[in-house]
Amino acid sequence: DYALYNSKTSLRGRTTVYSAEHEARIRSERAIEAALQSADLASEFQVYFQPVVQLPERFVVGFEALARWDNPQLGRIAPDKFIPIAERAGLIHRLTLSLFEKAVEQIKALPGTLSLSFNLSAHDVTSAETVAALLEIIRRAATDPRQITFEITETSVIGSYEAAETCLQVLRNAGVKLALDDFGTGYSSLGYLHRLPIDCVKIDRSFVAGIKDPIASGVVTSIVNLCRSMKMQCVVEGVEESNQLELLEAMHCRLVQGYHFSAPLPFEDLLADARENGRVAGLPLSGTAGAS
Ligand code: C2E
Ligand code: MG
Ligand code: MG
Ligand code: MG
Repeated sequence: DYALYNSKTSLRGRTTVYSAEHEARIRSERAIEAALQSADLASEFQVYFQPVVQLPERFVVGFEALARWDNPQLGRIAPDKFIPIAERAGLIHRLTLSLFEKAVEQIKALPGTLSLSFNLSAHDVTSAETVAALLEIIRRAATDPRQITFEITETSVIGSYEAAETCLQVLRNAGVKLALDDFGTGYSSLGYLHRLPIDCVKIDRSFVAGIKDPIASGVVTSIVNLCRSMKMQCVVEGVEESNQLELLEAMHCRLVQGYHFSAPLPFEDLLADARENGRVAGLPLSGTAGAS
């Protein structure tokens, strides 16, 4: 607890160092929270898009929306940092809806055969109100719900399984798809696979990073095969190198994402790219696109 670490009567010198770090982190989180409270969602937040690529053709079949925040005072803040703070501060509902609305508006300019994946937080998937508002955005945009996949993590449903299950079922009944993100990093992954109403599993990028190791590659192969037998889609995240891609192709892995193909890009860059190369229209991706 904060007051405890802040104690100057600590017996060990090391505690003081820890306390300084702890204080700095708390200060930074408070600054982020304050900036979030007063942020202009429309101008400070952007949605970037990273292609999802189908193998072996290397067609772009969809995009994952990833939030980017550039605050005038604090600069760019990563989603891993601001999403948990937005959750704690009770700001996630507004943020989620604003980001999703942006993503849906932008993706409308692309062929309807492309899918849009959007990350939801734990708070979103346990809130009937948020779920209803998400579906309303899809309806107003006249987007086919089957084009939308909501990504959730296992940890986001564990604490409040019943509330989450109801919300997920509502989404699914409306025709949207659900993906389990960062698969393999939670602790009862396999148990949740058949309990949750999901259509797709995204294998965490840590497995690809270690894919030369027989255990990591064994895990990927097993999950890919398990998904196939359960008739679920499977996306492998974090493909950065061509040798990783070769190994995944040998496993008959169908869907991949990663810097090897493209980093997440602002929508304008995606469109420019599509106009120049026709890539988004479903033509094969060539080589490595600039990662950032
Ligand atoms: P995620 O959904 O698992 O997204 C994948 C993350 O990996 C993204 O980080 C992406 O930029 C990064 N990535 C993609 N390809 C590669 C690769 O080849 N190598 C490496 N090292 N990284 C790669 P990002 O954009 O920083 O997002 C981090 C996390 O923040 C996301 O993880 C997601 O959980 C969360 N997030 C992002 N946008 C949103 C949002 O709009 N709403 C919510 N609730 N969460 C979001
Ligand atoms: Mg995701
Ligand atoms: Mg992930
Ligand atoms: Mg994640």
